Amino acid sequence: MTLDTHFFEEMESRIPKGKIRTRFAPSPTGYMHVGNLRTALYTWLIARHSGGTFILRIEDTDQGRLVEGATDVIYRTMAECGLTHDEGPDVGGPVGPYIQSERRDLYGKYAHLLVEKGAAYYCFCEKTESEEDSGNFDRDADPCRSLSPAEIQANLDAGRPYVIRQRIPQTGSTTFHDVSFGEITVENKTLDDQVLLKRDGLPTYNFANVVDDHLMGITHVVRGSEYLSSAPKYNLLYEAFGWEIPTYVHCSPVMRDQHNKMSKRHGDPSYEDLIAQGYLTSAVLNYVALLGWSPKGERSEQEIFSLEELVDAFEIAGISKSPAIFDIAKLDYFNATYLRALSPEDFSKVAEPYIRQTVKNPAIDVAAVAALLQARCEKLTEIPEKVDFFDQIPDYDAAFFTNKKSKTNPEVSREMLEAAIPALESLQNWTQEAVHSCLIALAESLGVKNATLMWPVRIAAAGKLVTPGGAVELCWILGQEETLRRLRAGLEKLRA
Ligand code: GLU
Repeated sequence: MTLDTHFFEEMESRIPKGKIRTRFAPSPTGYMHVGNLRTALYTWLIARHSGGTFILRIEDTDQGRLVEGATDVIYRTMAECGLTHDEGPDVGGPVGPYIQSERRDLYGKYAHLLVEKGAAYYCFCEKTESEEDSGNFDRDADPCRSLSPAEIQANLDAGRPYVIRQRIPQTGSTTFHDVSFGEITVENKTLDDQVLLKRDGLPTYNFANVVDDHLMGITHVVRGSEYLSSAPKYNLLYEAFGWEIPTYVHCSPVMRDQHNKMSKRHGDPSYEDLIAQGYLTSAVLNYVALLGWSPKGERSEQEIFSLEELVDAFEIAGISKSPAIFDIAKLDYFNATYLRALSPEDFSKVAEPYIRQTVKNPAIDVAAVAALLQARCEKLTEIPEKVDFFDQIPDYDAAFFTNKKSKTNPEVSREMLEAAIPALESLQNWTQEAVHSCLIALAESLGVKNATLMWPVRIAAAGKLVTPGGAVELCWILGQEETLRRLRAGLEKLRA
């Protein structure tokens, strides 16, 4: 096969130079793993911190694993998280296409270039896929490694299917450098002659990533540490092509506990699951940023970071090589902090769908209910159960009226409700202030502590021991008519 050197020169000339370029290269699996989200975030931060370029590349060469709609999940998640890309399948760029399956022809050309350079060879052996996957075969004995040019040509002419394998040197060692893991040296004889190009002409991930990272001018390759063991083979490929080796940043796994990686298959939440469980994107991102990275210098104690602050503070040197444990209680704390920091309007907006799950009555003011909740919830999914009594008062126990601290018992509560009902009935203007003044004045005239009056009013209004908001707020939101209806019903319960 004669190779078109002009093509390779042209490809080289397209590569942008001079700036930091990073890429997030997800495979379309249909969801975003917490570990993947962290990789995306770190990769994006490295580019943004240095004023560099962030690229999105879709790695879909494993056609057997494709999931419908999965690419949309990637775009949606990246956009929701604010991890905007400068180049990618949807926005284009100078080194596209950015979807591996659309780069198919290119990998074949580079695989053949490598054959020509002596760093790869045609292999016509029939090996099962599982043999390939396990690497469980005797590489020294691969007869194709030493076929003569005439034998190869004869096989090609006969149309025999082939794969292209990397020709790993059988002696010596390969050293590579990783930012967090330092220098790692492996003996070449421990590396297998991995397949670069499959029978169907599609590249393996191990080949495509090297070709793409080079042709896309990637300066920093950020990926999970599961790829550490393949890095020496990648270096041998870069060297054989005569390409510059990028800076490697391998990130340790996100763990469920001391011993187990987080895994969707074992029920651990993905990014989408966390959002469905009531966490805010901003809180998830902030927490995920700190799973395996820590700020240095004057920010070393800081925990709450906006995305802009992360851009400013993010140094690669802060990435740790020890695995991080995902602690949901810690995420709850971040989430509560973020919920509290929202403006009341923004909180009301994010809380509304959760409030409306149980509060269907259109007369109930969502913003007023939201105001009660903002300081009192860690997760949005706690909301429906907290506010369900607005629509329908539960069938509560009269024992709720007894509370030692408020000095109430059934008898005292009955007296309080007997006094509160006419007082509230006489109010002309049902405002929060009016309800408040009315009840405070009533407590004073009855000569009891405010709590002694407020407790039974709140129990009768909500039918629950624990409520977001006190008696005044709940009555105000329920409205005069509904409040009185509930207070009278409470009184009936106490008289029964
Ligand atoms: N497609 C690979 C994955 O999703 C990307 C690995 C890499 O970033 O090189 O695991």
